[in-house]
Amino acid sequence: MTMVVTGGCLCGSLRYEVEGEPSAIGKCYCTDCQKESGTGHMTFVGFAATAIRTSGEVRQFVKNGDSGNEVVRLFCPSCGTTIAGYPKILGDVGVIRAGTLDDPAGLVPTFAVYGCSAREWDSPPAGLHVFETLPPR
Ligand SMILES: [Zn+2]
Ligand SMILES: [Zn+2]
Repeated sequence: MTMVVTGGCLCGSLRYEVEGEPSAIGKCYCTDCQKESGTGHMTFVGFAATAIRTSGEVRQFVKNGDSGNEVVRLFCPSCGTTIAGYPKILGDVGVIRAGTLDDPAGLVPTFAVYGCSAREWDSPPAGLHVFETLPPR
């Protein structure tokens, strides 16, 4: 069974469609995700990068992550919403920002990364497996 997931930015002009099953659902507490989201963490849904297709005007912001590897972020030039990121360290994985999904109900995050920089006002939920930085590879 093929699953198609859709979503988009706050103003609606940047949309995406993803075919396939999520490879991971988790939360990132790194300082870059704090800046990007404007809050304490980012909840992400990982898919094969090649399965993510966008429509509408899109811009990229590129910055090296904590690992020294490039992270490409796709965002809407009109409203500024980031819809996805492509951390080079993950290879062929793109991470959709969970809040941009059309139907974000029912997602179950199974782990958190960069617990070392989590803020006391937005701590990982009790019971969630938290890695200090990235999981060992
Ligand atoms: Zn927008
Ligand atoms: Zn992060």
